[in-house]
Amino acid sequence: MSLMSNSTISSISHQTLHDVFGYSSFRGEQQAIVEHVANGGDALVLMPTGGGKSLCYQLPALMREGVAIVVSPLIALMQDQVDALQQLGVKAAFLNSSQDAEEARDITSRLISGFLQIVYVAPERLLMSSFLRLLEQIQQHVGIALFAIDEAHCVSQWGHDFRPEYRKLTVLHERFPKVPRIALTATADAPTRAEIVERLSLENARQFVSSFDRPNIRYRVLQKDNAQKNSARAQLETFLDLEHANDAGIIYCLSRRKVEETAEWLKSRGWDALPYHAGLDASVRNQNQRRFLREEGVIMVATVAFGMGIDKPNVRFVAHLDIPKSMEGYYQETGRAGRDGLPANAWMTYGLSDVVSMRQMLDSGDAPEERKQVERQKLDALLGFCESTGCRHQIILRYFGEQHPSHCEECDNCLTPVDTWDATKAAQMALSCVYRTGQRFGVVHLIDVLLGKPTPKVRQFNHEKLSTFGIGKAVSQQQWSSVYRQLVAGGFLESDVEAYGGLKLTEAARPVLRNESEVWLRRDSEIDKRKASKAERGNRAKEAYVAVSNDPLWYTLKDKRTELAKQQGVPPYVIFHDSTLLEMVNRRPVSLVEISRISGVGQAKLDRYGDAFLEVLQAAVN
Ligand code: ADP
Repeated sequence: MSLMSNSTISSISHQTLHDVFGYSSFRGEQQAIVEHVANGGDALVLMPTGGGKSLCYQLPALMREGVAIVVSPLIALMQDQVDALQQLGVKAAFLNSSQDAEEARDITSRLISGFLQIVYVAPERLLMSSFLRLLEQIQQHVGIALFAIDEAHCVSQWGHDFRPEYRKLTVLHERFPKVPRIALTATADAPTRAEIVERLSLENARQFVSSFDRPNIRYRVLQKDNAQKNSARAQLETFLDLEHANDAGIIYCLSRRKVEETAEWLKSRGWDALPYHAGLDASVRNQNQRRFLREEGVIMVATVAFGMGIDKPNVRFVAHLDIPKSMEGYYQETGRAGRDGLPANAWMTYGLSDVVSMRQMLDSGDAPEERKQVERQKLDALLGFCESTGCRHQIILRYFGEQHPSHCEECDNCLTPVDTWDATKAAQMALSCVYRTGQRFGVVHLIDVLLGKPTPKVRQFNHEKLSTFGIGKAVSQQQWSSVYRQLVAGGFLESDVEAYGGLKLTEAARPVLRNESEVWLRRDSEIDKRKASKAERGNRAKEAYVAVSNDPLWYTLKDKRTELAKQQGVPPYVIFHDSTLLEMVNRRPVSLVEISRISGVGQAKLDRYGDAFLEVLQAAVN
């Protein structure tokens, strides 16, 4: 395409944004990115989940001549992406191993004839020499508008999404040097970014780095009550009951077994919950994912195997029953909530046993020592986040190298500030109890010794004779458990893999024992009060819905959406997002022109669904 003037590009991009996507304005950096790529420039786009990355390549794809090729590792989701584009009136298709030869031939011939505007391709397909030859033919006859490389962090071997084929994608630049490339990812850290640039030869690409803040997500971390069996389940159910009675959400667990047990338990309690992990049969996984995407209010209980590329916009909560391995993981997983920009919750409950088992898992793995070291540091950063009393939005952003003014009013610590206390004396007792008992016992026994309980184990090891026996009677068992958790999380104690997870002192414990440094800990007793606090009181994630939830029109509009989605076998949000229906309830348009002014109603959707929704809206007025 010949270069267009800036003002022409700008007016075409706005027009297309409005006509095709039904949006009145760009978000954040979208406009600059779209215009840069439409003008033939290469780009590296770092934007948080929900930031609106798709539009950054879809819009220039429509503005430039030829077909756009989108490389995506997410075969299972290509269908939905293509469905969504077709709903917008865009000629889109995908090519991957799920299709039979005839289907693939049909799409290939449509590609060559120039009929298609956007084609999603799996990396292994793209790299086949026959496909590259086909692309050369296409370039000569109809042109290639651009290459979009989605989930670009898959080139990084450090992340758990590593895809070796991604490293060969430099072939695109070598064979098609004139075609602009746009690489996109929601993984923010600097090393990954550098690796993407290097591995994809994007040294000359302009980098667009958006703020990674997700202001609509409320972060909360609760402490598990170790004294109570299954306390996490009780906490989870309270959270669901109060805040997400009918919402779609994801619950992350560490192990496959826990995924299955939790899903079963939730089902037995009447929740519409499904399991998802890599050990399930592919057909079960696909079916569960499909239900999660296509139905309303389904809860997915999953390992981290679930989630990449899930673009369901109205996931209202992400809960963690086990801690993730790093801040990157936590951010990525929680980021799947609230892509539509409406209020959403990131909720986690964790306790000492999580810290111990996660550390043990890292230590006992077969990774080389250097890698383990990196993983330990990443876990420590996450634990610091869990234990912190500061603004959680601020901590997350600082981790990714960004400033945040703090006091977000969207995290537990800002909504209900936590007390800290001078725990130096208690820490000394706790640490010295570890030392005196030989650095090989777990927390339950250590607390028994501090509380002076003459249990059989205490007698067996003659621990009632120790100077630390009974010195901690003034403090409750629950408080001791909180002290130990924080000492482990803070790196004063570590679990000894060889001693079956018994605790031992680290270097950091020395100055504390020698009374050379103070230890300040968070006061966990606050947790009980916090339960009834603003953060916990509930229904907050539904604030945006509260106004409409008593309005019958909201439900009739949703029913109409479900009916249309079912007829076409697509997820309801592909017809219209919740935000579009909310706006309809609030503005009550009564003509096609008025409907066309609602955000998310482009020309194709107006033509297709305008009348059906108008009928519902008019009936509501009469
Ligand atoms: P990402 O891929 O970055 O996670 P998406 O491309 O899925 O994000 O976009 C997130 C949501 O925001 C989608 O529902 C999309 O339709 C919506 N969106 C994107 N750009 C705009 C815009 N300019 N105006 C309104 N909504 C937008």
